[in-house]
Amino acid sequence: MFFRVCALRLRTSTGCTELVFRLLLDSSRFFLRSTTTIAEMSSKVAVVTGGNKGIGKAIVQALCKDFRGDVFLTARDEGRGKEAVASLSAEGLKAFFHQLDIDDVGSIRKAADFFKQKYGGVDVLVNNAGIAFKVADPTPFATQADVTLRTNYFATRDMLTHFLPLIKAGGRVVNVSSFVSVRSLHKCSEELQKRFRSEDISEDELTALMTRFVELAKNGQHKEAGWPETAYGVSKIGVTTLSMIHARRLSKERPDDQILVNACCPGWVRTDMAGPKATKSPEEGAETPVFLALLPAGASAPHGKFVSDKAVQDW
Ligand code: NDP
Repeated sequence: MFFRVCALRLRTSTGCTELVFRLLLDSSRFFLRSTTTIAEMSSKVAVVTGGNKGIGKAIVQALCKDFRGDVFLTARDEGRGKEAVASLSAEGLKAFFHQLDIDDVGSIRKAADFFKQKYGGVDVLVNNAGIAFKVADPTPFATQADVTLRTNYFATRDMLTHFLPLIKAGGRVVNVSSFVSVRSLHKCSEELQKRFRSEDISEDELTALMTRFVELAKNGQHKEAGWPETAYGVSKIGVTTLSMIHARRLSKERPDDQILVNACCPGWVRTDMAGPKATKSPEEGAETPVFLALLPAGASAPHGKFVSDKAVQDW
């Protein structure tokens, strides 16, 4: 009987110790897990779209050197993206990869969820991804208008719809537009120019105008309706105007957060898009977008502007 009671007590106390030990282990695991998450959530993060080549890759490269936080090179194609990360790594630079096809809202949502979960938001967003048909491309103008606006305007807007709410206080948003947006604006009818420059144009009105351009182009009526003969130019008018709309909205809705949103032109840059005759190297093309991405804490300008060669341009 004595031995049975002793054995029972031993079993119970062993069970108890085991239970306490397990609880301690679990809570320390939980603690470790949560401290990692807190550490990651408090570290800063920069995200660049279309980062696998050209200006986007040069922006990632410069941010890896000068941004204090994690830099994400995103690309629609995982292979090309990871190859770019590896080539930066060979230069001693640490970039992280995340898949992101701006034409695919599912991909945008997944990426947005990832940055929200892991970092609690985004500190710097550079919307660089874009496309352009070559001048000699025989694709009908109607198709060029549809395809070009789908990526450069509508997909960039989808990115902003999902990522703007994630931008942390003090964040920077840089939308890579083009000097072609200014040139094309001047070729629009007086009436259209007035709308694109107005302080009260809404995102819905702008999107309706972009949709209207694509429809008119399908019927070959865009010129008589006051639009220029350039799908790329119109898509970048959309990007510049959208940046201004978002800047005004953020100033109104989050006045204390000091987020700066700008559109910019990288210049004429030697990439697959612009060809070998362009005047700037990709590194030089990255200078203005990176300048805007790294505007110092407390800066209040530029905001809602079109910037080229690090200087605000007339719109
Ligand atoms: P590139 O053609 O060299 O690179 C474009 C990048 O965008 C590529 O990484 C491409 O990926 C990516 N991209 C295209 N579509 C998508 C998509 N749906 N989702 C994700 N990524 C996508 O062009 P640049 O580097 O010259 O251009 C970068 C930006 O600069 C563009 O917005 C362009 O309009 C603008 N710009 C360029 C100028 C120049 O002179 N080069 C002048 C003014 C503005 P992938 O490799 O998979 O195709």
